Amino acid sequence: MKGRIVAILMLSFGCVTLGYAQTDMSLPTGVRKLMSAYPDFVKGYADGKVRFSDGSEMTYDDGEEKSYEERMNRADLEDMFSISYDTAVWTPSYLYDPGRARCESFFRKMYGNSSSEVQSHLVRVDWFGQKISFASVNGAADSLKAVVAELSQLPQSYRKYLSGASTFYWRKVRGMDRLSAHSFGIAIDINVKYSDFWLWSNPGKSEKDQIVYKNRIPREIVEIFERHGFISGTRWYHYDTMHFEFRPELLVE
Ligand SMILES: [Zn+2]
Repeated sequence: MKGRIVAILMLSFGCVTLGYAQTDMSLPTGVRKLMSAYPDFVKGYADGKVRFSDGSEMTYDDGEEKSYEERMNRADLEDMFSISYDTAVWTPSYLYDPGRARCESFFRKMYGNSSSEVQSHLVRVDWFGQKISFASVNGAADSLKAVVAELSQLPQSYRKYLSGASTFYWRKVRGMDRLSAHSFGIAIDINVKYSDFWLWSNPGKSEKDQIVYKNRIPREIVEIFERHGFISGTRWYHYDTMHFEFRPELLVE
């Protein structure tokens, strides 16, 4: 009985906090960033849980101390912010992979829980003469269009990096057992020919091994994507320099 009263009290207290969540500076930083980046979905926070527009909830921090690999394989929402995405860092240090950890259930919830569900939200975007598919959800496709407009201003010599892009594909991360951001229609790979991927240069290495950083994609391209809410695989120790991913929560203040 006593437990039940406590539970009821906690529940009503939770509702009170929820009403003030939008302006409460005591919210975890990551929650504030999620609310600002995904206003259509993330509506509030109470009792350690993020509240969605459909009334469902998701634990923000599971409280577990995770190793690098555990964080990559089963990130909660809080783990996505464990390494801050610093646009001043150009050559990443050991295991510096900002945004590479994704809370899969969060992305499934917003973009679709299956290949066909994700596909129902895809729209066509003009990519330098190529038609590519991208998620309309959260303004991702519109942000990609803004990227195209800005990339078009670069000298013609940059075009070779951009041609032959690929986007949606419901698949696991290369060499790993977790879903790639391409599965949600929020990632684009630019020209593979001028790109580098850590596993291609270091076959057989594990994620904990030391590798040598490599990148040929010009910084101007990277910075244009970032201005529109995309993170870049050029920033990662586990470099994937063709890869750009719509993750506005990592770029908002
Ligand atoms: Zn990619």
